[in-house]
Amino acid sequence: MDINRIRQEFQIFRNEPNLAYLDNAAMALKPDRVIKAVDDYYLNYGVNVHRGVYRLSYMATDKYEEARNTIAKFIGAKFEEVVFTRGASSALNLVALSYGMENINEGDEVITTELEHHSSHMPWFNVCKLKKATLKYIPLNEEGRVTVENFKKVLSNKTKVVAINYVSNVMGYITPIREIIKLAHEVGAIVTLDGAQAVPHMKVDVKELDCDFLSFSGHKLCGPTGIGVLYGKYDLLEKMNPIEFGGDMADTVKKDSQTYKLPPYKFETGTPNVAGAIGLAEACKYIDEIGFDFIVKREKELRDKAIKELEKIDDVIIYNKNAETGIISFNINGIHPHDAASVFDNNNVCIRAGHHCAQLITSWLNTIGTIRASFYFYNRDEDIDLFIKAVKDAKDFFGKF
Ligand code: PMP
Repeated sequence: MDINRIRQEFQIFRNEPNLAYLDNAAMALKPDRVIKAVDDYYLNYGVNVHRGVYRLSYMATDKYEEARNTIAKFIGAKFEEVVFTRGASSALNLVALSYGMENINEGDEVITTELEHHSSHMPWFNVCKLKKATLKYIPLNEEGRVTVENFKKVLSNKTKVVAINYVSNVMGYITPIREIIKLAHEVGAIVTLDGAQAVPHMKVDVKELDCDFLSFSGHKLCGPTGIGVLYGKYDLLEKMNPIEFGGDMADTVKKDSQTYKLPPYKFETGTPNVAGAIGLAEACKYIDEIGFDFIVKREKELRDKAIKELEKIDDVIIYNKNAETGIISFNINGIHPHDAASVFDNNNVCIRAGHHCAQLITSWLNTIGTIRASFYFYNRDEDIDLFIKAVKDAKDFFGKF
């Protein structure tokens, strides 16, 4: 596939052909067709859904629900198992605040890892605190990975929930999730999977994985901001209580009783992000056309090349040499990651520096933060040249002091 042709589909690259955008783990850029789909809604049928009894409202409702269908197919779910949320964070919180608060009791155990993003870890920390349950961490191996062997060490009959990422946003490791899900189910626990870094980069099929919940964001998948998805097995969603109440999710409301709609609607109160859902569905179609075979292959090529070049530079510490995905976390000896980041910016290279909302793994790595470069299919080989030049420039510049 021709990368330059792909880049022509992004206004941002037409404006700045030499932009080395390597902050894809934070957010992916949007191709024209996603922006066009969002625009089309606002320009041509931008009215509310589910309520109006007129042509434009039917049209908006159809497009919104069609979007749910497209996204459901994208992850192998059923239509009614796709709940629209504001993003991965609100999806992950919904599971903890609803399923967690209803099903975790004193003495129960929840298993998580030090590789979690705060949005995966913190909701369960709070549930466990409120419910006097124990939060257990899977010991990481010497590379900082979750292994099935180590998972078995913390799994017990007391385990009720496993809250875990599919791909770490700092280390880029793929968690051996199939085995973990199988073992968790054997003790009657459910698995809530943080798919924020997985769904945009590899084929994720919820039925094949048999995960109970999967959360992800639209904006890391070439979709709009402010939209995300919670997938949940229907029988679980059906038993769960909403955490937000109000317009659209109610079925009957009386002075002394309330009933709610069936999933997914009981979790979607208020006017939804119609434009976001439509834009995300367009992004899913776009990603499908690009194809995960190509995405996986291209990210690996970029990563291998970048690692090879980084390894040639003295004083560079790479924390995740053997990761499977397009995320590289590293530091330059003696240089604060934020200082280094300013030099990258001068070279037109966008990277991320800091703890990446994952302070547990930063502490585990015994550092204040890392520099993170993260690739997507639209990155060029030239982006790596610019990136490596920026690493050398940062070394030269701060090496003087
Ligand atoms: N989990 C992981 C692994 C992430 O990388 C992110 C985004 N940095 C999130 C959750 C939260 O996603 P959002 O900010 O879109 O809610």
